[in-house]
Amino acid sequence: MVEKLYEGKAKILYPTEDEEILLTYFKDDATAFNAQKRGQIRGKGEINCAISAALFEWLESLGIPTHYIDRPERDRMRVKAVKILPIEVVVRNIAAGSLCKQTGLPEGKILPYPLVEFYLKNDALGDPLLTRDRLAILELATPQQLEQIEAMALKINQHLREFFERCGITLVDFKLEFGLDSGGQLLLADEISPDTCRLWDKAETDPKARVMDKDRFRRDLGEVESAYQRVQQRVLEQIAQLRNQ
Ligand code: C5P
Repeated sequence: MVEKLYEGKAKILYPTEDEEILLTYFKDDATAFNAQKRGQIRGKGEINCAISAALFEWLESLGIPTHYIDRPERDRMRVKAVKILPIEVVVRNIAAGSLCKQTGLPEGKILPYPLVEFYLKNDALGDPLLTRDRLAILELATPQQLEQIEAMALKINQHLREFFERCGITLVDFKLEFGLDSGGQLLLADEISPDTCRLWDKAETDPKARVMDKDRFRRDLGEVESAYQRVQQRVLEQIAQLRNQ
């Protein structure tokens, strides 16, 4: 195997013969609370790779530029080489997670409009929430790029919300990452999966039973693998239906 370029908590990046293309390997490893909690979710690598590939391909068809090229193996994705911006972009439709912890909003409260937040991608600093002025001072992206990122994030939210609705799933919130390709074009990167989204089963009202995402691992709710599998099944079925339309 070629030497890895970069290893993150959930993925490993390998170079390819083409310097414009990288190979992403999706791991079964799971971490939470800034890697203070560690474990494995059996089959997660393949599931997250399949879900992300399907969603990237579908978003691309709707005019959202992504880094996705193809999926040569079940747990591997070929992507365009990008310089990842050190910003985690979170979009929230319903209050949950850190928003509730930091503001006291009750979990499950429907927000009056989608909330776009920027966090600094820096584990050592605990990924702090950024203000507009902090973003400007840190110069992590140009003001034009930030505007473009926000507009893209909102558009992606609209598409994903509708998509998951058709899957019988409520899209509570999710995290995106963006990168710049060699020509300076902004592309949606990283992954979109139950690791990076909060997904609630619409058929369940119980606040624990409805959880279909990494919160099952974070909060020790059990049945993590089966929840991920159910998301995969519904996403792939929905993609197949949309293809046949
Ligand atoms: O923890 P918090 O409520 O801020 O997370 C918001 C959303 O962003 C959740 O869907 C979570 O899974 C995702 N997230 C992520 N990676 C991080 C932080 C949050 O995927 N480092």
